[in-house]
Amino acid sequence: MLNIILFGPPGSGKGTQAYRLKERYNLLHISTGDLLREEKAKGSPLGLEAKKYMDNGLLVPDEVVIGMIRVKLEENVGKVAGIIFDGFPRTVAQAEALDQLLEEKETCIEQVLALEVGEDELVRRLLERGKTSGRADDMDEEKIRTRLGEYHTKTALVAGHYAQTDKVANVAGEGTIEEITERLAGELDRGSNGEEE
Ligand code: ADP
Repeated sequence: MLNIILFGPPGSGKGTQAYRLKERYNLLHISTGDLLREEKAKGSPLGLEAKKYMDNGLLVPDEVVIGMIRVKLEENVGKVAGIIFDGFPRTVAQAEALDQLLEEKETCIEQVLALEVGEDELVRRLLERGKTSGRADDMDEEKIRTRLGEYHTKTALVAGHYAQTDKVANVAGEGTIEEITERLAGELDRGSNGEEE
């Protein structure tokens, strides 16, 4: 399986690029942000619990998110060519849980593609998205700053977790959407060259 993590701060374009890579490489796209928003919209107990954190720009507790991922992997591993993870893992505990869940299924993460975008550009993009997305966490600069803070204190460490295995490629996340997709695809094509399935 070609399992990849699309990594980067809020506003770095993970959702947009994950969609394009999923189409190109025939992958299953798993976005924990989308899954949590679906639960929130349904008003499920999990969604109501998650809402308290999401609306304030804070990370949802690990056990909630890991539980959701476990279900998705149970449903899909073995049935799809690969998975692109978007917005997960966001903590080292989530990364460790993911490694273990994949190992139980005799597969692993092939590559981590890390999108790099400057902080001012991130804030600008998120505020712009907030005008149309209807997302409370995109409309308020203070919540955006909280999310960037969560990224720097908890999520940035995830890159270190995978750096030990030499699987991280940094990709410049500024430019046109098409240019960035080509950069990411270039890394993927290089990374999977000559490797076993
Ligand atoms: P963005 O990358 O723009 O912040 P997401 O849609 O990925 O947007 O996430 C929105 C919110 O959902 C996050 O701020 C957080 O509250 C919650 N969330 C999403 N994924 C995770 C995760 N893996 N762990 C904890 N919380 C998460």
